[in-house]
Amino acid sequence: MKKILQDLSFAGLENLMEQWGEKKFRAKQIYSGLMRGKKISQIPALSSELKGRLLELYEDEPVKIISTLRSSDGTEKYLFGLSDGNIIEGVLMKYKYGNTQCVSTQVGCRMGCKFCASTLGGLVRNLSSGEILSQVLTVNALHGGNEKDRAVTNIVLMGSGEPLDNYEEVLSFLKNITASGGINVSARNISLSTCGLVPKIYSLADEGLPVNLTISLHQVTDEGRARTMPVAKKYKIAEILKACSYYFQKTGRRYIFEYSLIAEENCDKEHAEALIKLLKGKPCHVNLIRLNEVEERELKTVTEKQAYSFLESLTKGGLSATLRRQIGVDVGGACGQLRAGYLKKGN
Ligand code: SAH
Repeated sequence: MKKILQDLSFAGLENLMEQWGEKKFRAKQIYSGLMRGKKISQIPALSSELKGRLLELYEDEPVKIISTLRSSDGTEKYLFGLSDGNIIEGVLMKYKYGNTQCVSTQVGCRMGCKFCASTLGGLVRNLSSGEILSQVLTVNALHGGNEKDRAVTNIVLMGSGEPLDNYEEVLSFLKNITASGGINVSARNISLSTCGLVPKIYSLADEGLPVNLTISLHQVTDEGRARTMPVAKKYKIAEILKACSYYFQKTGRRYIFEYSLIAEENCDKEHAEALIKLLKGKPCHVNLIRLNEVEERELKTVTEKQAYSFLESLTKGGLSATLRRQIGVDVGGACGQLRAGYLKKGN
């Protein structure tokens, strides 16, 4: 596999050009081309000699859209092909305030959550920072955006993979995507979702990159949580809450809990009461979502009525909470389901 030019920061590109004896402004031309989602071979103003030299070492197009599904509500789901033949998926959701892209951070995942399709085949490999960035650059360009006038305004790290299990690459991605000379998405418009790798939450809090922290909670006790999320055996809810407080203290950002409603698992009255007790008074928000059923898993979702009744219990109890509208349902698939379906068809 060749290297990935999008892994480099602007300073990294400048160093490369200097090493190659090229003029400094070449770095700017290349960087600007990449930020506009161009392949190396398409970057204007580069000599064919320099392009050739780059292409000997670097992938022309590290992340390629191989199929797009469009929902009647405007949501788009993509299957991306990587240069080693692996497949990842992504989503673009359209809202009044802008477009949110959901990106993957790993091929597969090793966290083993029982409701999630991304983890069905385990972890295949980590994505490099440039492969994560290229998902955004590609979709931004597809929608006519560039680095000044972005089509992708918000980013959520909620595709396949556990971002904090690929910490260094995810951190480089966050630094590169928020860099002022680049595509420059504000950290406030980026949400990182984790199943709760506590030590890494502390590390992230200390990086000075105030992205929104989202925790996949899904249960109110450690025992209950461990039934569907193996990671709960390692990190207790109390430790996660402590890490969230630290995150708030360092970044000033309110944190968010994801809570997927699973029938007969986590959404009775007693769960609502326990959740209120756990979170009341904390600078946080609860995002409810009805489980997207995964064919290979036994877990069942709840009715809309049950979901709204659970939501009402939480808000009456004083929590800030919302039920996430299910979008793009007609094109199928939460987290990992698209890729799983594609691989199942024998690809
Ligand atoms: N590994 C990270 C991010 C990826 S998943 C994490 O655990 O947070 C993004 C969110 O979707 C998580 O909250 C995850 O628990 C949730 N999720 C995964 N599969 C789901 C499904 N089938 N239905 C509803 N939510 C799901």
